[in-house]
Amino acid sequence: IVRIEGLRKRFGDNEVLRGIDLEIAEGEVVCLIGPSGSGKSTLLRCVNLLEEPTEGAITAAGHDMTAPDADLDLARRDIGMVFQHFNLFSHMTILDNLVIPQRRVCKTPKAEAVAEARRLLAEVGIEGKEDARPAQLSGGQQQRVAIARALAVKPRLMLFDEPTSALDPEIVGEVLEVMKGLAAEGMTMLVVTHEMAFAREVADRVLFLDGGVIVEQGPPAEVLTAPKTERARSFLHRVL
Ligand code: ATP
Ligand code: MG
Repeated sequence: IVRIEGLRKRFGDNEVLRGIDLEIAEGEVVCLIGPSGSGKSTLLRCVNLLEEPTEGAITAAGHDMTAPDADLDLARRDIGMVFQHFNLFSHMTILDNLVIPQRRVCKTPKAEAVAEARRLLAEVGIEGKEDARPAQLSGGQQQRVAIARALAVKPRLMLFDEPTSALDPEIVGEVLEVMKGLAAEGMTMLVVTHEMAFAREVADRVLFLDGGVIVEQGPPAEVLTAPKTERARSFLHRVL
C-alpha cells in the first residue's frame, strides 16, 4: 500500500533523508523510531507530500504521489494524518470537526455524516461532548477526536507523528488504546513514536532511522530487544 524508492529530501544544504526505500503491506503496522532530527517527521510528511521529495518516487494508498500530475487532494483523502498537537478546528464544535470534512471531502449527505461522526466518537470513547469546543477537552480527549476526524473520510492508510508526545503520562494510555483498536481492525499504520511498549506490542515491524537512513528494521522483538547496530543499541539504551 506504500512504496518508497530512493527518497531524498534536502532543506538547503541539509540533507535530511538520504536514500530511503520502504514498502508497507496492506494492514501492516510500522513504527518509526530514532533520535531527534533523524528525519522521522520529514519521512512521514513526504508520504502524503506535505513535504516535496528532492528525489525519489512514492506511491501511497493507490496514488502515485510523485507523478507530475498527481491529484494530491484526491490522494490525501485516502491518507489520514494525526499530529502531536492535535490540530483540531478550534472554532468548530467536536461534532463539526468530524462532520465538515465528510461534507467537504466526500460530499456525504448531512444526516449520514452526523451519524458517522457520532459512531466514530463513540468508538474512540468520546460521549456527550458533541457541542463542546476542542479547548474544553483534555489533551487525550482532543487526540482521540483527532483520530476519529482522520477516520471520518475513510482513509486506507494512517500516519501518526508522535501522537502521544504532548500528553500527560497518565492519559497517554487512552490514546494508545484507540490506536491498538485501529490496528486490530486491520488499518495500515505508519507511526512515529517513542512509546517502545506500544511498538513492541502492536508493530509488525520497527524501523530505526538515524541520519536520514534506515539503519535497522525488523520485528520489534529483534530491533528493540537485540539490535544489530551500535547506533540502535545506544539509542535504545537512552530511551528505555
Ligand atoms: P524529532 O524527534 O525532534 O521530531 P525528527 O526525526 O522528526 O525529529 P525532522 O523533523 O524530520 O526530525 O527533522 C530532520 C531535520 O530536518 C532537522 O535537522 C530539521 O531541522 C530539518 N527540517 C525539518 N523540517 C524543515 C523545514 N521545513 N525547513 C528546514 N529544515 C527542516
Ligand atoms: Mg518529528
